[in-house]
Amino acid sequence: MAHIAFFNFPAVGHVNPTLGLLKELVKRGHRVTSTATDHFVPAVEAAGAEAVRYESVFGEFYRSPYTAEALEGEGLRCLAEATLLADHVEAHYQDDKPDLIVHDFMAWGARFYASRHNIPTVRLFPTYGVHEKFNINDKYPLVQHTDAKVMEMFGKLGEVLPEFGLSPDPMAFFQDVAPHNIVFLPRDFHYEGDSFDERFVFAGPSLADRSAYQGSWQPASPDRPLLLISLGTAATGWPEFFRTAIEAFDGSQWDVVMAVGDHLDIAELGTVPANFTVSRHVPQLDVLQHADLFITHGGMNSTMESLYYGVPMVVIPQMNEQKANGMRVQELGLGRHLAAADTTVATLRQAVSDVAGAEEVAAGVKEMQAAIRAVDGPRVAADTVESCLTSAG
Ligand code: UDP
Repeated sequence: MAHIAFFNFPAVGHVNPTLGLLKELVKRGHRVTSTATDHFVPAVEAAGAEAVRYESVFGEFYRSPYTAEALEGEGLRCLAEATLLADHVEAHYQDDKPDLIVHDFMAWGARFYASRHNIPTVRLFPTYGVHEKFNINDKYPLVQHTDAKVMEMFGKLGEVLPEFGLSPDPMAFFQDVAPHNIVFLPRDFHYEGDSFDERFVFAGPSLADRSAYQGSWQPASPDRPLLLISLGTAATGWPEFFRTAIEAFDGSQWDVVMAVGDHLDIAELGTVPANFTVSRHVPQLDVLQHADLFITHGGMNSTMESLYYGVPMVVIPQMNEQKANGMRVQELGLGRHLAAADTTVATLRQAVSDVAGAEEVAAGVKEMQAAIRAVDGPRVAADTVESCLTSAG
């Protein structure tokens, strides 16, 4: 039995895809620990792992910055998170060294700690993978390497890296491709999927039951078509969208389940139509099992979960990575992309009717669903992790 230590990034979209893998490793008899802020402790424990609690720089959980101003300084915060995490686990694991570290690609602290203690690692990508010739940032730029705050972070990172026995070149840190990587997407969905060599395993969404901490959901009228609407866990500052959605589908043929997130007082929406159920959060996997269409912001998890359950999408992205997903959904014929700026009652209705009525979309989604389900994600991911234990001796 090995001690496998997960270092996660405290965001719902990063933790969720790892839960199936945690569970599988525990089932195989390993001792699995995982860093977690209080918010994620129930999820980690439900998977059978031991939570290593810490207080994140980002608070209870990370919310993607949707504006340029909010994004500014994000790299510096990631660096602060990394050093904090490396210090925290230093004390925690003092007499309990892990045999292997499995870490989210944004949990830089894992790389610091692993390098200092010469522990092998496996890198996780809950989104697009990165290799020498592919980086989604080149296609849909999120970070400008010339921004003052980014340059400041590079400078600080260059000072920190040698303390952990790493090369002081910050670019080398970001360009490094790990020998073992798990990507929680099917290869078929990934841009340039065939360009990823044997260092990468495509595990697909690797879903795990969340009922222990999220409850469950059943449709009230199973015979009516069901539309799920959600902008994910990070949606801030766009209450108009939810009002537009209400206006678009009030009294329509759809039963609508709408999750508005933490940043909107539901009372602000006024009277909720009889064919709508509005809440802050829903057990999304349960709703998707019954849904016929998903209006989503196109977070990678929502996109993958929708495809896993064979649900076509209208993707209204809030940031560039989601735009990449929305464009990919459209390009692969799995739904439609609709720009936030173009979203009106009329365009929303049109997009939904285009997607709901399209046989080729239904066929495309079915094919992608089959590709996803052909891979037992938690199993192939756990096999990769175990192969690293063997190679580490
Ligand atoms: N989620 C959920 N209920 C909700 C909203 C979101 O269970 O009401 C889950 C969803 O299933 C997904 C994650 O939260 O696993 C959101 O991740 P995603 O990558 O789609 O978007 P993000 O929130 O990171 O922008």
